[in-house]
Amino acid sequence: MKLPWFGIALMLLMPLNPAFGQDKLFDAHVHLWHGEESVKAYEAQLKAANLSVAGYGAMWFGGPNQALAGNPGDVRARNDAHLALAKAHPGMLPIATVHPYDGPAAIAELERVAARGIKVLKIHPHTQKFDAADPRVEAVAKRAGELGVVVLMDNANILPGDSEKLFNLALKCSKTKFIFAHLGGLNFRFWNILALARTAEGLFGDNIYFDLSAIAVITAKSPIRDEFVWTLRNVGVDHVLLGSDYPQLSLAQTLTALDQLGLTDEEKAKIRYGNASKLFGLEAASK
Ligand SMILES: [Zn+2]
Repeated sequence: MKLPWFGIALMLLMPLNPAFGQDKLFDAHVHLWHGEESVKAYEAQLKAANLSVAGYGAMWFGGPNQALAGNPGDVRARNDAHLALAKAHPGMLPIATVHPYDGPAAIAELERVAARGIKVLKIHPHTQKFDAADPRVEAVAKRAGELGVVVLMDNANILPGDSEKLFNLALKCSKTKFIFAHLGGLNFRFWNILALARTAEGLFGDNIYFDLSAIAVITAKSPIRDEFVWTLRNVGVDHVLLGSDYPQLSLAQTLTALDQLGLTDEEKAKIRYGNASKLFGLEAASK
C-alpha cells in the first residue's frame, strides 16, 4: 500500500503518543483556578500533547480559590460564574461546591445548582476544613443523592481516617453516588475491602467510584504498581474514572501512567471514557 507522505508521518508519530488513535477520553478532574484563562491553558496543554477530549469535569476551587464555611454568598456567586463559563465551553462539565457546615444554606445552594443542571458536587475535607464524619456532610450527601447529583470528594489520605470515614459515609448514603478522588492516595490498599463489602448482603450499595488522578502517576513506575492494579480490579474497573488533577498534573502524564499500568485495552477504554459516560450520562446529554 502506497501512503502519502503525511500518512507515513502519522504512522511514525503514533508510537510517540500512546493516546493517539484510541477511544474517547473524559478527564473527570480538572481545576480551573482562573476561569476563562485556565480553560485556554487546559486546552493548550491538550493541543501540545496532540490530545482531544470528549469532555472534562471542571471545578473552580482548589489552588488559590477557597470555599470555606460561613460565606455562602461567595460560594453561590462563584458557582454561577462557573456555570456561565461552562455555557461558553460545551465540553466542560461544571462541578459546583458548597460548604457542608453552612447547613441549610448549603442544602439550598445544592438544590439551586442542581436545578440549573449541575450533575457533580465536589467537597474537600482538607482544603474546606471539615470532618467527613460530621452529620452535616451526611445531610448534604443524602440530598445530593435525592437530586441525582454525584458527590466527588478528595481521598488523598492527607487527613487521618480519610478512607474509613468516606467508606462509612457511602454506606450511610447508599442512594448517593460518590467519586473518591485519588483512590485513597498511597493508602489505596484500604479499598480492597470493597471486594469483601460486596459479599455482605445488604451492606454496600455499590455506590463508590474513584478517579485515578495523581495516584496513577505515582504508582505507574513504582515497586507497588502490581498491587495498585490488583486494587483497581478489586474495587472494580467499572468504577474507575480517568482524571488528571490539572494544573498540578497534565492529562498526557496521566495517560502515559495509565498505559504503564499494564491493564487490558478493554479496561483502559472503560477508564478513559466508558465509565464516565455512564455515570454522567454523557451520551444522553449530547443527543
Ligand atoms: Zn484536585
